[in-house]
Amino acid sequence: MVSDIGLGGKMRHSLRTKLTLSCIFYSLFIVFIVSIFTNIFLEKYFQTYIKNQQEHRNNEIVALINQQYTGDNTWEKAVIEDIGMRALENGNILRVKDSSGNIIWDAMLHNSGLCVDMLSRIADNMESRYPNFQGGYVEEQFIISQGLVEIGLVEIGYYGPFYFNEGDLEFISSFNKALIVISLISLFFSLTIGFYISKRLSYPISNTVSAAKLIAKGFYGYRIAEKSNTTEIKQLTSTINNLAESLEKQDKIRKRMSSDITHELRTPIATLQSHLEAMIDGIWTADTQRLKNCHEEVMRIGRLIGSINNLASYEEENFLLKKKSFDLAELVLSIVRNFESDYNNKDVKLKFTGEKQIIYADRDKMSQVIVNLLSNALKYSYKGSFVEIILSDLNNNILIVVKDTGTGIPPEDLPYIFERFYRVDISRNRLTGGSGIGLSIVKSIIEAHNGSISVQSKMGLGTHFIITLPK
Ligand code: ADP
Repeated sequence: MVSDIGLGGKMRHSLRTKLTLSCIFYSLFIVFIVSIFTNIFLEKYFQTYIKNQQEHRNNEIVALINQQYTGDNTWEKAVIEDIGMRALENGNILRVKDSSGNIIWDAMLHNSGLCVDMLSRIADNMESRYPNFQGGYVEEQFIISQGLVEIGLVEIGYYGPFYFNEGDLEFISSFNKALIVISLISLFFSLTIGFYISKRLSYPISNTVSAAKLIAKGFYGYRIAEKSNTTEIKQLTSTINNLAESLEKQDKIRKRMSSDITHELRTPIATLQSHLEAMIDGIWTADTQRLKNCHEEVMRIGRLIGSINNLASYEEENFLLKKKSFDLAELVLSIVRNFESDYNNKDVKLKFTGEKQIIYADRDKMSQVIVNLLSNALKYSYKGSFVEIILSDLNNNILIVVKDTGTGIPPEDLPYIFERFYRVDISRNRLTGGSGIGLSIVKSIIEAHNGSISVQSKMGLGTHFIITLPK
């Protein structure tokens, strides 16, 4: 168990300590409450029971003595003595009188020592159980009659208002002992269970904490392998794993992006520098062609900076859409027509399949999506290959699929192609003139329309871009 003193001197306990202590506390609390209530109820019912027993015994004694009347003011004295002695064993002091008030049998007269002993023993018992017990000797009188004729009187004395004999006290004390044993057993179980549960809970959490620390130190490739069947822990570990994954991805993109930008800027600047130096040194004459080349490089740098800027504005938080209803098929068809000559020049076939699809969206931005996808498809297609754009309806959504039979994208690059400045093959791309932001623009436009985009590709066979848009 771990505890330490936190800032401000406040004690901090580990989850394990807290859970184990809570289990122990709750089980003890429950045992305590149960003991108190059972004792209160037991006491109450037991006292009533004892009082009823006394009443029952009194009636029994009176009935028995009644039977000993043999008529004519004569009694079976030996049996009465027997009854009296048995009553004495049970804590009852008997005095039997005939109708004229003469004593037939009296326990006090018979054995006063025994009576006093018994009463003081009971008094001790009761005081040991109830230190402030307001008890004392009480006597009850019962008239013995046969028909309507009074034949005698029985006086029964006992320690009142009620008393416990040894057997009763033993019962109460073994009951309390049982409660103590139950408390000890539940303490043991709560300790074991608390320890077990807290271990099961805290182990994966501390593992996750160590993993999160490692990830924070920059080990983005680290993943938590821990499998847990606790929903929240499962969510926690998968969240940390997802976090690590996106950090890893972002890290790769950041590294690649900064190297891309430097690389991209370095080449035109180096070319410019060498050309200008050659012209300054008089090695080259500053003719129109050479100045044009320099101008082209400057334009390239301008374009690159422009695209960085463009992207920033696309990703602005409030991506404003000017939505209206229009026929997407008609828009696609007009873009396909515009592309016709470019496709013909490269000898790539372009086909459109689809029917009228009315969509509520930003027309200019949708047009940009189609243009970017079709220009990519052309860029990465071989001479004589085939590109198709298909528009269809799917459960209240519009599906746009752009298929090409071009170069394909290596599987390891697929997860990154929608990231800004990400390009599969930097040297090849410099020829095709891409700056790696076309697809990231496509993705942000589609997401702003609550749609989704995915890609499937096989190297050498071609690529499919699949867009789903709500109508
Ligand atoms: P770029 O301006 O470089 O084309 P994009 O964001 O449009 O940037 O594309 C990112 C990368 O994805 C490209 O560099 C290219 O390698 C790859 N790519 C995109 N479309 C296709 C395609 N249809 N076929 C093969 N590769 C593609």
